[in-house]
Amino acid sequence: MQNTLLVVGSVAYDCIETPLDSADFILGGSSSYAALAASFFCPVKVVGVVGNDFKESDIQRLKARGIDISGLKFDESRPTFFWRGKYHENFNSRDTLDVRLNAFEGYSPELKPDAKKSKFVLLGNISPEIQTAALDEVEQPEFVILDTMDLWINTANSQLKDIVKRSDLLILNDSEAKLLSENKNLICAGDILRKMGAKSVIIKTGEYGAMLFHESGFFTIPAYPVRTLHDPTGAGDSFAGALAGYIAGAGKTDFETIKKGMLVGAATASLTVESFSCYKLEETGLEEINRRRQYIETITKI
Ligand code: AMP
Repeated sequence: MQNTLLVVGSVAYDCIETPLDSADFILGGSSSYAALAASFFCPVKVVGVVGNDFKESDIQRLKARGIDISGLKFDESRPTFFWRGKYHENFNSRDTLDVRLNAFEGYSPELKPDAKKSKFVLLGNISPEIQTAALDEVEQPEFVILDTMDLWINTANSQLKDIVKRSDLLILNDSEAKLLSENKNLICAGDILRKMGAKSVIIKTGEYGAMLFHESGFFTIPAYPVRTLHDPTGAGDSFAGALAGYIAGAGKTDFETIKKGMLVGAATASLTVESFSCYKLEETGLEEINRRRQYIETITKI
């Protein structure tokens, strides 16, 4: 039987403005992106909370990908987590204009008996408090993937460092890696993060790719060359989701499997950024992910 991936993180409504376009109240959040991406590689269960404004059409989108949402709590008293962001001219940086925890305020995850038995866990970007509470409920996790962001590095540093020690694979972007390791050299940052207790570390460098720091060695891949960037939101979450889904689906956690998972992650993330939300990824699916993953292999072979 194939392993199921347990995904913890935010389920959100996003309002996004890019230099090209804007969209209001579209499905976002670390967990939504990660679960949709992972769903191409293994069965997925989501744990989290949504509010009284959560749309039936978004429930159907998750269900259409076979995602088990029985661990999603519906809080009728408050709206869904809300995030508003605006990208700068070059798409490389953005401002968070508004963030409201709403239903996530004071939320503590409760896992169903089958979710407690999960072996593969993705702790997507959300407060380390919620990540820790969810992981505490998992009886015998075998492989824990942890994602985070600058907000938690700055506001919940010691709790974050505690959960880093329990992670098998920590995934961060370049600026977060520098901030958490307190080192400006990315290679040194990767080594320091492993010394902090993460068994392995991936540092993402956006359009340039990603680097893996592992006890068996160092590995790096480029990003898939995207010419039609529409909205970079969720690229990191879908990279982590696809990678986690690939590892859970393969049922192997060695260096080679993580490397192959990175290719899958890069291919999947490249589809996420070609539309708002995950529309392009959901539309094109596994065939296009595989085509892009092969293309990355081709362009990196000498
Ligand atoms: P990314 O572009 O990979 O950083 O992910 C963007 C997604 O993260 C958006 O869909 C937001 O809803 C979600 N998000 C923004 N801020 C937070 C936060 N503090 N905690 C959890 N999720 C967040």
